[in-house]
This record gives sequence, structure tokens and C-alpha cells, in this order.
Amino acid sequence: MNRFLAIGIRLMNRLRYPQKFALITCLFAVPLALLFYLWLVQIAARIDFTRQELAGLQYIVALRQLLEPLQRTQALGVLAAADRPASSAALAQERERIATGAEAVDRADRQLGGQLRTDASWSSLRARVADNGAPPEPFVGETLRLIAQVGDSSNLILDPELDSYYLMDAVVLRLPVLSEQLRAFGVATLAPASGPRDPALDGQAIAARTRAAAERAALQRGHAVAFRANPALRATLEAPLAASAAAVDSFMRLTGDAVAPDAPPPHFGPTSDAFQHYAAAAGAVFGHFDAAAPALDDLLAARVRRLTHYRALLIGLVICTLAVVAYLWVSFYAAVRQAVQALDDVSHRMRAGDFTGPLALESRDELSQVVESFNRVAAQLRLEWARAQDESARARAAEAAAEAATRAKSEFLAVMSHEIRTPMSGILGMTHLLLSTRLDKEQRRQAEIVRDSGESLLAVLNDILDFSKMEAGRLELMAADFDLSTLVDNVASLLGPRAREKDLYLETALADDVPRALSGDDGRLRQVLLNLVGNAIKFTDRGGVCVEVSRLGSENGRTGLRFAVVDTGIGIAPEAQERLFQEFTQVDLSATRRFSGTGLGLAIVKRIVTAMGGRVGVASAPGQGSTFWFEVALRPAVRAITPRSPRPLVAVRPLRILVAEDNVVNQQVARGLLKMHGHQVEIVSDGRAAVEAVRTGTWDVVLMDAHMPIMDGCTATGEIRRLPGERGHVPIIAMSASVTREDTAAFLAAGMNGYLPKPIDPPALAEALAKLSGAGTSDAASLAPAGEPTDEVVDEAHVRLLFDALGAAKISQLVEGIEAETAPHRARLAAACASGDLAAALAAAHAVKGVAASLGMTALAELSDGIESAAARGDAQRYATLLPALEPALAEAVARLRTLCAGMR
Ligand code: ADP
Repeated sequence: MNRFLAIGIRLMNRLRYPQKFALITCLFAVPLALLFYLWLVQIAARIDFTRQELAGLQYIVALRQLLEPLQRTQALGVLAAADRPASSAALAQERERIATGAEAVDRADRQLGGQLRTDASWSSLRARVADNGAPPEPFVGETLRLIAQVGDSSNLILDPELDSYYLMDAVVLRLPVLSEQLRAFGVATLAPASGPRDPALDGQAIAARTRAAAERAALQRGHAVAFRANPALRATLEAPLAASAAAVDSFMRLTGDAVAPDAPPPHFGPTSDAFQHYAAAAGAVFGHFDAAAPALDDLLAARVRRLTHYRALLIGLVICTLAVVAYLWVSFYAAVRQAVQALDDVSHRMRAGDFTGPLALESRDELSQVVESFNRVAAQLRLEWARAQDESARARAAEAAAEAATRAKSEFLAVMSHEIRTPMSGILGMTHLLLSTRLDKEQRRQAEIVRDSGESLLAVLNDILDFSKMEAGRLELMAADFDLSTLVDNVASLLGPRAREKDLYLETALADDVPRALSGDDGRLRQVLLNLVGNAIKFTDRGGVCVEVSRLGSENGRTGLRFAVVDTGIGIAPEAQERLFQEFTQVDLSATRRFSGTGLGLAIVKRIVTAMGGRVGVASAPGQGSTFWFEVALRPAVRAITPRSPRPLVAVRPLRILVAEDNVVNQQVARGLLKMHGHQVEIVSDGRAAVEAVRTGTWDVVLMDAHMPIMDGCTATGEIRRLPGERGHVPIIAMSASVTREDTAAFLAAGMNGYLPKPIDPPALAEALAKLSGAGTSDAASLAPAGEPTDEVVDEAHVRLLFDALGAAKISQLVEGIEAETAPHRARLAAACASGDLAAALAAAHAVKGVAASLGMTALAELSDGIESAAARGDAQRYATLLPALEPALAEAVARLRTLCAGMR
């Protein structure tokens, strides 16, 4: 069955519903339409046929008016020949009736002659009938032939219906023939009695009587059939039929009662009575005709009406059927579309997460089955959805809780790191101090153990903190221009001492085609290299370590670089290599392992390299050393970079430092940075307090802000230099946000040993202090670092340093307070612009510059510097040009700091 339907199913599946409807409708509508058409054509043909019959009947009725007087005229002619006066009068009367009959035929012929093709026959007959002297006998025969011709051309003789057929038979054939036979019989019997009887006339009389009897009998039979077929005819025709039959019989009986059909007719002589008998019989026959013709006309007209109604009914039925079929098709299609649309709407809703209520469809067909299945699936989905919603709500809550926990953890770690690293710095600082004092051998050994343990602990703490930050997704890479060879050298010089301690070589090899000026997060790159090189030194006892950098190629404006740290150390077994780069993984997990460590270093390396879009790996064999490599793609530097010769890291013992600084922000920054390096810090807010602190305390160095209230830095330095003894010689280093040549000259003239730019860079300070302690003299020029102009809004490296030194909370607090902190200075700068008193603006510009520099707001510091110089030169125009940029620069720097702080938390 399925195979049988396969073709149909395939066809139907390819079509849309309207196409299906159109196809099916065409397939059955075309033959039906053809049938209907043929039917209608047939009905129309029958109507035309019947109309033609009606026309023929009308014409024959007109001919009948001519036929009767013609026959009577002939019969009268016989009387006239017998010289009967009465007959002559009657003859004239009949002639009039002939003329009237001919006019009736004229009218009928005008109307119907063309249609019935009688015009030629009639016009020839008409011309002769009009002639009064012409004998009527041949006209009777022609009229009878014309009646027969009209019967032919009007289809009357082909009439198919039983009732009408016999009426037609009577009207067209039987009654005219009967009247003619009566005439012939009458003429033959009315022949003159005088003279011998003409045997031919007798023969005619016998033949006429015989035919008349036959016609009469045929009429009786035909009418009987017609009455059976249409009993209503009986009422109209039974009496005329009986009358004509009786008249014929009585006329025939005049010639003898028991006349044998073949016996010669009796002679009753040409009397006017005899004519009267003939006239009565012929009159009855024509009376019968006059009753039969209207009855036939009624029948035919009724048939035309019936057929017309039938046709109208059929057309109406076809139109109604078509309308109903079209209506049902359209309704069916609309119902299907409604159901499909409803399904579509609900599935749309479901896709948008709305699972409310099942789909309701008022249908009992197959579509309702589909809808029921759909509703079942929807109900199932609703359940699943609700469950999924629950689960995802739970998951979200869990995720939020986890995020909150992670945030809390990383915040806690950030706080803790600061809190732990500060005392650790104290421990290390004090240990350094301790080691710089006079100690016996054992004490020194113990102090060195404390220092080494502290340093290891600090390294572990840094690792854990770093890793937890990365785990919390807080690894944000910075982008800054840097010099690659400086970075690699920096790593080598940092770890060089450790390598030398173990008698290992530490080499670097940058291929010639490796670009030096690059852009990226050099801090993180340095961290990766420090980790790998640190490990390589740790796990190598003989030979050494080489850091190789080679170029891989360029793509999308980035250069691929491969860093390989090759050592000649203990190597790693293949099975252990698989576990590397996972957190807390160490190859040697035995309690007696030789090498300490957290197992976090390589995990951190992997996270950083992956964050940079690179990959990391190792090639190693036990006893044959290892090669740890990583590949990253970096962009070229935006600006040209002058590679700086790596600043030698100078180890400085922890110092007692007095900081004279009036600005709160600067105070906090200086304290944080210095403490981070293990120094002891005391802060005073003006020059007089600084002098007092030096007079009463013991300091290794004084960091003196140049501009301070109550007493400025230079005055305070002069006072300190006048103090007696060692105190008067305490090293004093000026701190200034900008250092012009005049400034440095003034600092040195006042007795300061050197100067440092703000914010304090601890390595630069260490370097300066080492120089001071080494040379014991001032070397101001060499203390100033080679600062490079920059157009950065914020110095990210410095901010990161601050973050480590002061902690997240403190930095945020400083950033949020900066606008309020600088508000009075900014107001003074604006007032000075309005009043033109630029001298009044000098201190304010300097203060803003100091705060900006302390917090690493490079662009703001440079702008304030420009404003300060303009004020110093009295250049009101330049001052007025620069000042409007101050507020936007501050806002931009604060926004940038906020983002950075958020990223570093
Ligand atoms: P750890 O703090 O223990 O050094 P790492 O993640 O840096 O943690 O290293 C994980 C382990 O990988 C180390 O404990 C060591 O066993 C092995 N490893 C790392 N680098 C080397 C190397 N250069 N040679 C041999 N083994 C190494």
C-alpha cells in the first residue's frame, strides 16, 4: 500500500497546501467542467430544437387557415359545376377566407420563412393563390406538401417525446391528410348524378374512404398513446378527437350503413345537403386540428420553459457547488494555516523561554493529533525548562557565591599579602641591619639563615599571591613599549649572582633578526623568564644556563618569538614532564627531596604565556639537562626605544630614612615604596619639623621636598648643615616633581647631596645612596635618572609598584581622594589666571605636579610642570593655553587609575 502511494506521497510532500489544492481541484474539475459543458450544450440544442418546432407549428397553423377554404372551395367547385346558385355564394365566401388565410401565411412566412426555408415555396404558391380564377385543386396539394416540408424543416416530425410526437403526428400529417381524404371522398361522391357514373371517381372515392378510415384509426391510436403519456391532454383533446371521429364516421355513413371498405360508394347525388355533410365532417377534423395545435404548442412551450429552467438550475448548481468547494478549500487551508501558525507561535514563545499553557486547537482531524503530540512535548519541555531554570538559578547562585568567595579570597590575599609582606620586609630589613653590625661568626650564620629563610618565604608568598590572582581571573596584561635585550639582560643580571654562587654560567643569546623594540607586558614576560631561569639554576649543579631568543616569523603585524631556557641540569623523566605546568606539581615529591619550592612557578608561567596567546613546553631527559621554551607573538613598539644599559641592582642595607614632605598623598607613596624595600621611615610635614627631627634623631638619609610650608627644603637643609657634629653631615637628597637646572643648582647650593625625581624610584634611591655612601660626596648629576618624556596618561609600571607597596585599599583611597586633595591648588591656579598674578600660581602648580607624579599620573604631571614653568616665566599666554587642559587631564588620569586598580585587585 505504502509503495503504491509512494509516488503520490512524494509529490504531495513537495507541494505547499495551495498547490496541492490547485492540483487536486484541476484533476477533477477539468473533466467535470467538460461534462457540464456538454450537458449545457445538449440542453441548449434541445431548447433550439423545440423552438424550431414551435416555429414550424406556428407556420403550419397559418397554412391550415389556407388549407381549409382551399378544400372547401374545391368541394364547392363541384357544386358550382352542377350549377347550384347557393354554391356560388358560398364559393365567393370561401375565396375571401382563402385571401385571409394567405395573409396569415404571409405573416408567418415573413417571420419564419427564412428559418424554416419556406420562402421560395410559399412565394410561388402565393402568386397563384392570389389569382381568383385559378382552380384550387393543385393548391391543396401544394399546401399539403408545404405543411409536410415545414414539418421536416422545423424538426416537428423528429420530435422525440411520446405525447408531443403523436400530437405532432396528428397536426402535421394525420389531420391534414384526413381532411384531404374527406375532400377527395366528397368530390368523388358529389359528382353529378346525370350521365354515366365514372368508374375512376368510384375508385377515388373508395381509395379516399379507405385512407380516411386508416387515418382516423391512426389518430385514435396516436391519441391513446399521447393520453397515456400525458393524461392532462385527455381533457382538451378527447372531445375534439371524438367529434372528428364521429363526423368522419357519419360522413362516411351517408354513403350507406354497411359499406364494405372495398365496395363502391353509393351515389347520393350532388345535393347541397351532401356538401353540408362534407363541410361538417371537414369542420370537425379542422376543429380537432385547432384543439390539437394549441395543445402541441403548449407542450412545446412548456418544454422550452422546462429546459430553460433546467439549464438555469444546472448553472446555478454548478456555481453553488464551485462556490461551496472553493469556500471549503479556503477554510481547510485557513484551518491548516491556523494550526501551523499556532504551533509556530508557541514554538517561538518556547524558544524565548515562555512555556505558559498548552496549545488549544478546535480540530478533530489529524492535525489535532500533531497538536496533542506537540503539547505533550511542550509539557515535557516545560518540566525540563523549569528544572533547568531551577538548576541554572542554583548554579548562578553557586557561581555568585563562588565568585564572591573568590573575590573575598583574592581581596583577602591582597590584603594579607600586603600585611604579610610589610612585616616580612621588616624582618628582612632588620636582618640586613643586623648583618651590617658587628656579629660573631655564629650570630652571623644565624642571621643569614633568618635572611635566607625570609627571602624564600617572601618568594613563596609572592608566588601564591600571584597564582591566586590569576586563578580569580585577574590576570590582566598591560601593553607598553619595552626593549627586549634590556629585559633579557635584566633577568640575567638579577639571577647572575645566584648562578655565580653555584659556579654556573648564565648566558643570553638573542638572534640578530629578533626585533628589540617591542610592545607588550614586559613585567609578565620578565616574570616568566625569571621563573624559568630561576628553576634552571636551581636544578643545575654543573655547567650552566643559556637564555636563547629566536624569531619565528610574522603574522598580522605580530612577530613570533621563541624563548628557550637551556640548562645542563638534572633533567626530567618523560613521565614527569606530562605533569609539569600543573599547579603544585613537583617532579620529586619525596620528603627527602633536595630542592625546595611550591610547585607553582611553572603553572604561573603557563597561565601568563597562555594569556599572551602563546604556548609553553619542555624538552628534557634525565641527566641531560632541560630546555624550557615558550612562544609568544608581540607587536612592534609604538615609539622608538633607546635601550638603556641595565641599571646594576645595588644591594642596599635597610636604612633609617627621614622624609620631609607636606603633601599627604606624596607622604603615603614615599612611605609605602620605601618600606617595601625594608627601610625604616619617619615622615615630617615641613622644613622646621625636619630640622628638629635631624637634631634629635639618627638618620642614614633625609629625603627633602623642595617646596614645603613653614620652612622650604633649601632653608631647612641650610639649618641642618649648621647643626653640630655628625648630624650636620647627614646625607640630604632633594625630592622634586621637576628638576630644572636652576633647581638643581639651588639644591646643591643649599647643601643637599643630590636630588631625585618624584615619585621615588627605590632602585634609583638605592643607587643614589650607594653612590653617596661609596663616594661620600655629592654627585648630583648622576643621581638624576635618565627620565624619558612620555605621553602616557599613567605610568602603569609605577602604579603596579604602588599597588604592591601600599595595597589595593590604600591606592583606591588615594585615587578617590585626589580630586579633593588637589581642589584648593586647582582653585588657586584658576584664580591666578583670572587675576594675572602668576607668581601666586607657582606653588599650586608644583603641588599638583607632585601629587600627580607620586601616583604615576604622567601626563598630568607633565602638564602641571608646563603650567609651573609658564608661571615661573610669567608667560601669561602659555599659562592661559595650558590651564584649560588641566581638569580633563586630571579626570582622565583618575579614570585610568580606577581601571588599573580594578584590574590589579
Ligand atoms: P617549584 O617551585 O617546585 O620549582 P615549578 O612549577 O617551578 O615549582 O617547577 C615544578 C617542578 O618542575 C619542579 O619541582 C622540578 O621538579 C621540575 N623542574 C622545573 N624546572 C626544571 C629544570 N630546569 N630542570 C629540572 N626540573 C625542573
